Amino acid sequence: MQSAQSTQVLVVNRCMQAVHITSAKRAFVLLFTDVARALDEHWMGHDFQSWASVPTRETDASFGTARGPIRVPRVLQLIAYDRMPRASVRLSRRNIFLRDAYTCQYCGNRSSARDLNLDHVMPRSRGGPSSWENLVCSCRVCNLEKGGRTPAEAGMKLLRKPTRPRWSPVLALAFSPTRPREWDPFLATLPGAKELAQLWEHANGAADAHALMDND
Ligand SMILES: [Zn+2]
Repeated sequence: MQSAQSTQVLVVNRCMQAVHITSAKRAFVLLFTDVARALDEHWMGHDFQSWASVPTRETDASFGTARGPIRVPRVLQLIAYDRMPRASVRLSRRNIFLRDAYTCQYCGNRSSARDLNLDHVMPRSRGGPSSWENLVCSCRVCNLEKGGRTPAEAGMKLLRKPTRPRWSPVLALAFSPTRPREWDPFLATLPGAKELAQLWEHANGAADAHALMDND
């Protein structure tokens, strides 16, 4: 059984769009205050009272209560219409690595996060911004070789032009290989789902997935 503390809960809106990932503790606050319903394995919505009588399966994380264990839901549906998925993905080291599939954009070598750097294509010292269009994943060797030069000056070529990813932020986190399979139906229809699923296959597994979640 998973620990309830570390269990992540997918939050979907009225239209069953994934909007957010939250902690088990926060999920129970939303459930208890009637802001959200917990969805069971048949996608039936339950309020707190009703959820308390849903049996805990062997694979579920649970919290102990005076009335017995209560299952941590995998998916929570917000009752109000008001939340929509955030439109753009946050610029972060991990998200750049993910966009570039943990692959050095100069030599094409794939590595783990700790062996990769962020490279400013137009060097920072020459006014290059920290943006999706100017940051790429680079291995230490290429980073060192390039130094404070542009790719052209260093005789290096980018594998592809860096752009802002079109996947939604919740997907960036939710598509990790450690996700519960119950999330999949809510993820498949989000923008960039197919692309992101492929990127995650290239990512470095659970360790990076957790780092990515912690980081948001
Ligand atoms: Zn390289």
